[in-house]
Amino acid sequence: MGKVLIIGAGGVGTVVAHKVAQNPDVFTEIVLASRTKSKCDTIAKAIDCNRIKTAQVDADNVEELVKLFNEHKPDIVINVALPYQDLTIMDACLACGVNYLDTANYEPVDEAKFEYKWQWAYQERFKDAGLTAILGCGFDPGVSGVYTAYAAKHYFKEMQYLDIVDCNAGDHGKAFATNFNPEINIREVTQKGKYYENGKWIYTEPHEIHKALTYPNIGPKESYVIYHEELESLVKNYPTLKRARFWMTFGQEYLTHLRVIQNIGMARIDPIIYNGMEIVPIQFLKAVLPNPGELGENYVGETSIGCRIKGIGKDGKEMTYYVYNNCSHHAAYLETGAQGVSYTTGVPAMIGAMMFLKGLWKKPGVFNVEEFDPDPFMEQLNKQGLPWHEVFNEDLEV
Ligand code: NDP
Repeated sequence: MGKVLIIGAGGVGTVVAHKVAQNPDVFTEIVLASRTKSKCDTIAKAIDCNRIKTAQVDADNVEELVKLFNEHKPDIVINVALPYQDLTIMDACLACGVNYLDTANYEPVDEAKFEYKWQWAYQERFKDAGLTAILGCGFDPGVSGVYTAYAAKHYFKEMQYLDIVDCNAGDHGKAFATNFNPEINIREVTQKGKYYENGKWIYTEPHEIHKALTYPNIGPKESYVIYHEELESLVKNYPTLKRARFWMTFGQEYLTHLRVIQNIGMARIDPIIYNGMEIVPIQFLKAVLPNPGELGENYVGETSIGCRIKGIGKDGKEMTYYVYNNCSHHAAYLETGAQGVSYTTGVPAMIGAMMFLKGLWKKPGVFNVEEFDPDPFMEQLNKQGLPWHEVFNEDLEV
């Protein structure tokens, strides 16, 4: 059906490569490129599939990307490098007539923002070029938006309250590690809290609002309101929402480490001079922390991520709805060599590209996932390793 180019060979790239290789009827040719080619070669070897070509690219450099795209002529690029590269990759897509998909919004290196405005500004250019850009197609953002679109399409006349609940009840046995790129992860969880209520954004101190929420097959876990990027597009696309929040679980140990890291200045994203050399503390910290891509082997437990929604049902009566997936870190590891957080991100990225190549999610312009038909995507989640479950009219706790 089509040729895919994956950029990024970290935890998520590993899973995307495995999953596209598992779907040869859709992904007829596969290229895996990243800054360090040897990482691509290791992944290709582990998959043991002679259809994966590998390449080296610095995705901060549009010229290098253009050369790579012209050499391989992919139909779609799956960008699972870092959010800093989103715009250069989108520029190269426009230059070469290639479609685009990512799992995280563009981030300026020197400021943690978590905003879509830079990428939404590409709308006209992608539209005029007849190219599709699918933004935020991991789990959250990604499946969280597809779940919301599914709820709106099938069950609700008016969605009023949306709570995205993200629990990682896994244990990797390390004193402190992040589940995806440490730099992006620490930037995300140390920022101020923010949620949407009655047409306004409400700001909180980091981790100020918290309570125990009960997760299926896991039980109660302390959960914290943090800002997460999909809230921005969801409140725009579903204007009936009176409130939208994102909750994430953190253990006490994790929060203590995070507080120390912040207090001693290691979470700083501005450059400092050390021994006459410029270094960014959080980038140095990344170099000494465990590699998230290698946490899988001893990781036990599950993730549970879902949407809890209240509002008026299609029949005009009040209703609640909870849709979620639980993913076992160990099962993810056995299948792909990566842990559950990489798995829950990489599988939806593959499905998004599959939706595009099948012509089901194909429209010129730049779109968030909830702007496409959720049904074929939901069907694939069940087939590709992330089955979902629904609960109707129970107390949502939020
Ligand atoms: P990793 O840090 O493990 O991997 C990132 C990869 O990108 C590495 O292979 C790295 O290369 C490569 N890379 C970095 N800079 C460049 C560059 N300039 N040119 C080419 N390649 C580059 O991150 P993860 O796999 O954990 O995360 C990947 C993405 O997924 C991130 O954007 C993250 O925010 C997103 N994510 C989204 C989630 C969701 O649910 N939506 C959840 C989790 C993650 P090298 O090996 O040389 O460093």
